This record gives sequence, C-alpha cells and structure tokens, in this order.
Amino acid sequence: MIKKFTNIFKDTDVKIAYRATDTIFKQLTTKPERPNNPNGIYSVKCITCNKKYVGQSGRDIQIRNKGHIIQIKNCNPKSAYANHIIQNKHEFGPAETTLKLLKQCNKGSPMNCCEQKYIQKYHRSGNLIMEEQTYENTPLYNSTGKNKRIESVIPEKA
Ligand SMILES: [Zn+2]
Repeated sequence: MIKKFTNIFKDTDVKIAYRATDTIFKQLTTKPERPNNPNGIYSVKCITCNKKYVGQSGRDIQIRNKGHIIQIKNCNPKSAYANHIIQNKHEFGPAETTLKLLKQCNKGSPMNCCEQKYIQKYHRSGNLIMEEQTYENTPLYNSTGKNKRIESVIPEKA
C-alpha cells in the first residue's frame, strides 16, 4: 500500500515521509501503571547518622514515606523512623536520597517474612536505627503479622 503510493510520486520532486504511529519505542515508553512507585519492602535513611529503617508498604512507598515525614513534622511519631528522627533530633532527607525499594512484593505473609529478613540483615550489619531493633525478638517468620509494628497506624487508604 505504502509502496504503491510512493510510486505515484517516483518521478516527481515530491518526497513522502512515513511515520508509524504504533512503534515499539512508543509501546516501551508508554507509562506503565506505576513505574517508579512500587509497593513492597523499603528502607528509609536518616541523613544524620546514615542508619536505616526497614518498612513494608502495600501501596506506593513514596506515600508511605510521606506518612513518616508528616509524623515528624507534626511531632507525632507512630513509626520507629519518625521516633528516631524526633528523639535524636536527627534529620530526614528528600525521598530521592533516603528512600530505597529493597524488594517489590505484595502485602501478606511473604511480605512480612521478607521485611523481617531485611530487618535482621540491617541489624546484623549495624545499619538499622536503634528504635527498630526492639523488634529483634519478633519471631523471624511470623506469618500471623500480629507483632506488626505500630507503623500500620497510618491508614492504608489515606
Ligand atoms: Zn539518625
């Protein structure tokens, strides 16, 4: 079809330019549903002492991180992270430098297990904020989630 159309102009000065509208490039660059804002296990760093807090979020970790910051700004700590920043008068930083996705996963038992693994890992390497270390006694693979940290006070749908 295209070729035939071009042939008409073959002996003229008219030049045809083609542009495909549905290219692979376009498909690749089309925004997926949540490209940079996944849910899962994340760490958020204290700018002052460089220690980290490990948390889980069933939705966008950026939103969860904002929850921490709101708690800090309101001086109303409900997470170990907010507590750490307020109690020690340490500083939190912008999400671009402090927030890191450790593993993307969905809410439930696997997420609890995974979170515990990271908490243990950071604790052993001395990178976990002190406020979160009290959870060291939590059974490593607590599938009931009953020992979940007070952080879940932030409503999921907010
Ligand atoms: Zn700190």
